[in-house]
Amino acid sequence: MAEDTERLDETAEEEELPESEGQTEEPVEKEEKSEREPRHNPLGIILNVRMLRRVVQILFLLGINAYVFTAWFGAEYITAFWTTIRNYLPSIPILAPLEAPFAVISGSFDTMQRTFTSAFFPFFTIGAMIIILIFVGRAPCAWACPIGTIQDFATLPKREKVRPTAATEIEMRKGKLYIFVVVAGLAVWLGASRAVGGELVLETMLGAFANDAFNPLNPAYILFKVIPEQLWPTSLSTLWYFTQWGFALLQLAFVIFVFAVSIWVPRWFCRWICPAGWLYSVFSRDALIGIGRNPARCTPDVCNVCEMVCPMNIRIRKYPYKHMHSPDCIMCLECKSHCPNDAIVIRFS
Ligand code: SF4
Ligand code: SF4
Repeated sequence: MAEDTERLDETAEEEELPESEGQTEEPVEKEEKSEREPRHNPLGIILNVRMLRRVVQILFLLGINAYVFTAWFGAEYITAFWTTIRNYLPSIPILAPLEAPFAVISGSFDTMQRTFTSAFFPFFTIGAMIIILIFVGRAPCAWACPIGTIQDFATLPKREKVRPTAATEIEMRKGKLYIFVVVAGLAVWLGASRAVGGELVLETMLGAFANDAFNPLNPAYILFKVIPEQLWPTSLSTLWYFTQWGFALLQLAFVIFVFAVSIWVPRWFCRWICPAGWLYSVFSRDALIGIGRNPARCTPDVCNVCEMVCPMNIRIRKYPYKHMHSPDCIMCLECKSHCPNDAIVIRFS
């Protein structure tokens, strides 16, 4: 670690250069690099960061809808426990609807959307969101968001992944900004109309999009709010209940589509569609925790493993060694787990 710091100090000036220049001058001789052996973790099979993240993701997926099982089996005292603690848990920067019948934790974006449309200002939610993002960046996207989790699991089967060019990726990423502008604009407009008592025309005009404009297309809202509230068949003879689902069936098809595409395009919904992800990226660019590369170990001319495994399709090698500061990095640490030279480091600055 001391060696890492020393090397970075030596190259600090170089890292301030524009991307291409920062990459051309190698701070360390190649011979020295080739002699370095990757560090091995003897307990790697059990105690590795990928495994840990999967476990945390599953716990959050269950925890977010914490009392669905207890409610299902009629364990009322456990259900009562969850319903009590939900009042004390803050929203976190993920996608999780406030109104889900079994929700314990909600997403900052979802809560802000609902608060604005109710003609209030979400001071506490915004404050908590900014603090979390400044400290840990978009790590909740990688470790806690249920929609990110399901996409990650959909991506696990070894299929060839689609990886658009940098230019295409930049264009596609703009999609979530456009969606955010529309959704946030409608939320503020509706909130203002409600505050002055003139919301009826707007509500009629917006129809299903009147309350929270993103919800009809929000996979978390569809999965955890819309679907549980449908009339579920209890036997073969009640299968016809599905015909009563109407618009919910279309929404379910959309969610299935999102996860199916993730098999080939990792986290495409996060990268191109999610307006919450765009909002979170604004505050996480300069997060205290982030990813860097050890220039003594990284071999960017001959290796691109980190970029190939990055679910957010970030061109990691284009960033300075010291600290990546990418608004799209979700701190999943896939690059760190896969780097054959153990060159990816976690930075605190
Ligand atoms: S960007 Fe992805 S992980 Fe982050 S909140 Fe949106 S859906 Fe969840
Ligand atoms: S750069 Fe690394 S930590 Fe960040 S999103 Fe990509 S793989 Fe995950």
